[in-house]
Amino acid sequence: MTSRRLIGLSIAVSLAGFAVLAAEERPDEAVFWKIRQEATARSQILQTVHVLTDVYGPRLTGSPNLKAASDWALQQMASWGLKNGHLEPWDFGHDGWTNERATAHMTLPAKDSLVVEVVAWTPGTKGVARGHAVQITLPARATAVEMTSFLEGIKSTIGGRMVLVGPHRVVPVTFNPAPLRREDADLLTQLNNQPAQPAAQPPAAPQQAQPPVSVNDSQRPLTNAQIQAQLNQFLLDNGALVRINDAGRDFGQIRAFDNSTRDVTKAPPTVVMRNEDYGRISRLLADKRAVELEFEIVNRSYPEGRTSYNVIAELPGSDKADEVVMLGGHLDSWHAATGATDNAIGCAVMLEAVRILSAIGVKPRRTIRVALWSGEEQGLFGSAAYVKQHFGTFEDQKPAYGKLSAYFNMDSGTGRIRGMTAFGPAATATVLREATASFKDLGMLGATTTRTRGTGGGTDSASFSNAGLPGVNTILDGIQYDSFTWHTNLDTYERIVEDDVKKAAIVVAGTVYHLAMREELLPRFSKEDMPRPPASAQPAAPSTGASPTRSN
Ligand SMILES: [Zn+2]
Repeated sequence: MTSRRLIGLSIAVSLAGFAVLAAEERPDEAVFWKIRQEATARSQILQTVHVLTDVYGPRLTGSPNLKAASDWALQQMASWGLKNGHLEPWDFGHDGWTNERATAHMTLPAKDSLVVEVVAWTPGTKGVARGHAVQITLPARATAVEMTSFLEGIKSTIGGRMVLVGPHRVVPVTFNPAPLRREDADLLTQLNNQPAQPAAQPPAAPQQAQPPVSVNDSQRPLTNAQIQAQLNQFLLDNGALVRINDAGRDFGQIRAFDNSTRDVTKAPPTVVMRNEDYGRISRLLADKRAVELEFEIVNRSYPEGRTSYNVIAELPGSDKADEVVMLGGHLDSWHAATGATDNAIGCAVMLEAVRILSAIGVKPRRTIRVALWSGEEQGLFGSAAYVKQHFGTFEDQKPAYGKLSAYFNMDSGTGRIRGMTAFGPAATATVLREATASFKDLGMLGATTTRTRGTGGGTDSASFSNAGLPGVNTILDGIQYDSFTWHTNLDTYERIVEDDVKKAAIVVAGTVYHLAMREELLPRFSKEDMPRPPASAQPAAPSTGASPTRSN
């Protein structure tokens, strides 16, 4: 026994009421020690993140960048000794899209550069476009009649213009910055709070059939999707040159998402402009000064992107080879940066975990299967397609349904793994807590469970939970994720914290190895205890432009 282990034990003992020490689970501490050695001495995580982000760049679903990164990951895993590496296609149904060039300048009242990101699945400018800026403010909660009448009223001001959509958002100074790390006490409270077990599930509420919204319905406010669709068509019909949205965040952060139709013919060229430039132009227009802007945007569509791929490879099992422990993360990213914390790092940690296990020569009883998903940012599409094809759902099971022990996911940035949330009964968390008890010195403090099925958002572990399978998501220290890097133009290699992600790989490799070796599968909900399936498993598409999406 090492002194490190002793420290871990004494911390655990001092946390009264937190954990019963390894009553049942007997992790192989000798293998855990080898995992730590390999992870520390020969880590490949930063090299993997470097290639995924710096070489392949933004990895939007359907793009050639994502395909190239997927091919590279396969090659890399083969060189580490993984078997059965292959790409599994699924139908995305939209062309791939990339932005190749975007320049933005003010030419009047003063010459200056502007900072923008292009909205995905919008067209380019066909050369340099120059025009005067105009700002419009849409009526709040407009009905179809009000919206049409508003647009009719501004029709003559749109042709040949750069159209700022919406007032400048004033972002107040932040006096209480987001904490970089979670406090142990706060984390333990979360991990020890088991979700209430409902005595009996109430009957499902009958599905309310929504009457179709008619454009003639003068009472009903339009949905955001309807407003964006009508506005984009109006801007196209009336010859707007570029649509400009306010990023609405401080320090030049820009979150650029997609034209939710993912059809470049249904939107004008569209950018999200940093809040500081948008504010300057808004103030100049309020002074009644002429503002002239110039854009050059080159985008490209890829019909072959209608088929997207998940990357799959395995460390084959032995006496229980038909049973599987899975781990993974999404390889696709948004396009405003290179998607380092969301989610090249989740992929790099999972790849590192299987590299370590292969390098130290373990012979797992169950098959360990790694999956790098695509389509996560548009609504967990890749993982959902995989689960549907291979496992089915609790209500409609395929033969492999009963053979999956668990799926481990990482998709919350660059922080240490501080805990895990598993879809399952209390026993699921007990196993994970005991299996990881010797990783407390790395910051890993335990596990909790959830009964949530079918949230329609979140991350790829939800595709497994939605089907009633043990999806396990990792809880990470926040670092700068929600406050700076998540979905922004600042999500680059520089934001990766090397020490944290090395520790994350040790925790994942150890946990996955233990689950591949223990006698039983990870406990899961019984038939009697299984939460009801989601009414609709189809997640909502994010809205146009700068508004946040629900996928991580
Ligand atoms: Zn993500």
